[in-house]
Amino acid sequence: MEQEKLRIAIQKSGRLHDGSVNLLKECGIDVVNGVNKLKTEASNFPLEVYFFRDDDIPQYVEDAVADIGIIGENVVFESNKKISIVEALGFATCRLSIAVRKGEDYKDASFLNGKRIATSYPVILKKFLSENKVNAEIHEISGSVEIAPGIGLADAICDIVSSGSTLFMNGLQEVEKVMQSRTVLVKNNQLSEGKQKLLDKLLFRIQSVKKAKNNKYILLNAPNNKLNEIIGLLPGMKSPTVLPLAEEGWSSVHSVLNENDFWDIIEQLKAAGAQGILVVPIEKMII
Ligand code: ATP
Ligand code: ZN
Repeated sequence: MEQEKLRIAIQKSGRLHDGSVNLLKECGIDVVNGVNKLKTEASNFPLEVYFFRDDDIPQYVEDAVADIGIIGENVVFESNKKISIVEALGFATCRLSIAVRKGEDYKDASFLNGKRIATSYPVILKKFLSENKVNAEIHEISGSVEIAPGIGLADAICDIVSSGSTLFMNGLQEVEKVMQSRTVLVKNNQLSEGKQKLLDKLLFRIQSVKKAKNNKYILLNAPNNKLNEIIGLLPGMKSPTVLPLAEEGWSSVHSVLNENDFWDIIEQLKAAGAQGILVVPIEKMII
């Protein structure tokens, strides 16, 4: 019997394309670039890769045209399809925000009462407005939402913001964060047992890559009389590796540090007498 294959839908081109292909690559899955193709196959994992517009992916995953997909949470919530989020992927993070013209005296959401708001996200915006008891007119437009206030089409916009520079260039100020959006892996709700097994295998790899990115391998030299203090500062996976140096009275200490506590711990290590600190990226982390 031919082996079952998992079908993943990723964005054909745009902000999520490279991140999606890279993630698969980091999971040891080679995908031939398919910008001009609808579909390609991984050479070393039972995976078929489909290239779609991101907005179409929720529907295709619900209809089992694809088993899993990579999209922004903004698209997941806007589409309202019966699919499940399985894992946050940690790239192309953004937020969906409301912005008004610069200089406008905005105090709270009640400012939006009776106003026209342009957006490509009517479902999410409607929910936000009703939660905030605001009665506004929603103008759905599909692209270049940020120019709407400038040409008199709307009084406010609800759009994706990452750095804020697009808003700034269009004379707008961000006034409400409607939702934080991460790029996520989604799946069809009725995967066969075989496909679920393949997904679990892929997820295991994705989680190892994510953990590795959040951690750094650290090597340092410590005088033996400070070893206990220095080891006490290192969380590590189990306990740090300690090796004697050729120079009498010194040891080399190896451990793993989480990105979040990184700078704090480095400072404390230096203060405790650590020298020659080396910090190296980790490619995969299996625990
Ligand atoms: P498609 O042709 O596939 O429909 P698109 O123009 O809708 O492409 P992109 O602009 O490539 O989509 O954005 C894809 C996703 O990237 C968004 O849905 C969002 O989750 C995420 N994203 C991150 N930062 C930004 C940003 N500054 N602007 C737009 N989307 C962003
Ligand atoms: Zn799109």
